[in-house]
Amino acid sequence: MLEIRNPATGERVGSVERTPLEHIPDLVAGARKSQKAWGALRFSERAGILGRFHDLILDRSDEVLDAIQSETGKSRRDALAELVTVAGTARYYLAHGEGFLASQRKRGAIPLLTHSTLDHRPHGVVGLIVPWNYPFLLSIGDALPALLAGNAVMLKPSEITPLTAVLGKTLLEKSGLEPELLGIVQGGAEAATELLRHIDYMGFTGSTATGRKVAVAAAKRLIPFSLELGGKNPMIVLKDAPLQEAAEGLLAGAFSNAGQTCISIERVYVEAPVFDRFSALVADRTKALKVGWSRAFDMDVGSMIHAAHAAKVQDSIDAAVRAGATVLAGANRRSDLGTTFVEPTILTHVDQRAPIATEETFGPVVSLHRVGSRDEAIALANDSQYGLHASVWAGGSAPAMGIAHQLEAGSVAINSTLLIYNAFDLPMGGVKLSGIGRRHAEQGILRYTQARSIVRSFESGGGYDNMLGRIRSNKAAAAILKAVRLWRRIPGIR
Ligand code: NAD
Repeated sequence: MLEIRNPATGERVGSVERTPLEHIPDLVAGARKSQKAWGALRFSERAGILGRFHDLILDRSDEVLDAIQSETGKSRRDALAELVTVAGTARYYLAHGEGFLASQRKRGAIPLLTHSTLDHRPHGVVGLIVPWNYPFLLSIGDALPALLAGNAVMLKPSEITPLTAVLGKTLLEKSGLEPELLGIVQGGAEAATELLRHIDYMGFTGSTATGRKVAVAAAKRLIPFSLELGGKNPMIVLKDAPLQEAAEGLLAGAFSNAGQTCISIERVYVEAPVFDRFSALVADRTKALKVGWSRAFDMDVGSMIHAAHAAKVQDSIDAAVRAGATVLAGANRRSDLGTTFVEPTILTHVDQRAPIATEETFGPVVSLHRVGSRDEAIALANDSQYGLHASVWAGGSAPAMGIAHQLEAGSVAINSTLLIYNAFDLPMGGVKLSGIGRRHAEQGILRYTQARSIVRSFESGGGYDNMLGRIRSNKAAAAILKAVRLWRRIPGIR
């Protein structure tokens, strides 16, 4: 049994049974059986259900926000961000999914004489293993394109936040989805490991350490997978940047969701001439943030996911301070609020090699670094094992674009920090240890499909397969080679 308490208040909010491991093969088999008919439906029939779901989550927004807040302790605003993003994901794929999934005519093997078609077939049963930081967005949000592409989904939410996914499933069923098409497996590593033995594709979101294990398990079965992993996301502030806006952007980028966001900004490189002014602005604004938990939209920074994680983040702040970091804002223990709150914290004079500068903190802590040039900023930003996301603030778009093109990250936001998550037409994911594969955009739905290529010859009897078999002389071979050479020069059929 998984007993769930609101981490902010300690109040018991519900419980779920762990799925017995021996039930998982049958659950996947049931999903696979239902997928056959679901995958054969027209896109518009699947889309009807998702359209109703889009409207239903907005009609019942309070219930969804309450569920998210109850098991995470996050602020109402952070819960709202999840809901809005799930609705946006649904709208985007309802509008564009059919085009992405449509069969496409391709160039023939032999121009004019053969015909080629590309189909996108569902994998069958897609497994999703997801973390606790966005329990609605990363579970249901990722399930929507998988379902629209004609798959059944087996979802394993985090054992820390199992309830919101159950509400999402209920609302999908109320919208018309057959229950077997979205199965939920509850539990931790063991349940995840068992699930990996049965599904046809794995979409994993979580830490890099667990992602490696998932990749090994997927490799053993040779099933395709995507990994959305951790980050240590940098922000660069050039001397001509709009500093007020950059400071606001940093607050959103570093402290939303109490810093427990994969694309959170955790390190900032500021050009020397504006370092002091920018630091003062950021420190002032950070000190004004309201920390605490309520069901109203009145808190800026909510609870961390649990006391152990809050303690770990606080320890990393204390270790940085002991090693010589200067505190510009925050860093105080908030035991007055309980055991799960960490003050939004701005540090400077942090050693570039210290854990707080190199390892993912996953909390409301950011270090500011003074740099002598934009090249130094780029080099430091890229000097990381991670490459998920980055942010650049500059006075003009050309220099900012120039920097963006040099950053080793799956996404870059210019004069913004988190906006990328709502740019549904852009693929999102990481390079280096931040992952493999992308969510959102065309790639975010095609990852749930296999390409099936169909080539058709207009000549009956397979004549073209045996074309070279007809060659009986050097002269004939030379004629073929001449034709091949000419081919490159004929526009339109290369
Ligand atoms: P985690 O890796 O501990 O857990 C993620 C999921 O994996 C959970 O459901 C967990 O039960 C499951 N799991 C545990 N052991 C497993 C195993 N051996 N095999 C398969 N699955 C297993 O991550 P977390 O602490 O829940 O989440 C925080 C991490 O997630 C952070 O590193 C964060 O950066 C990352 N994250 C990444 C993205 C992204 O899109 N890149 C988004 C959100 C969070």
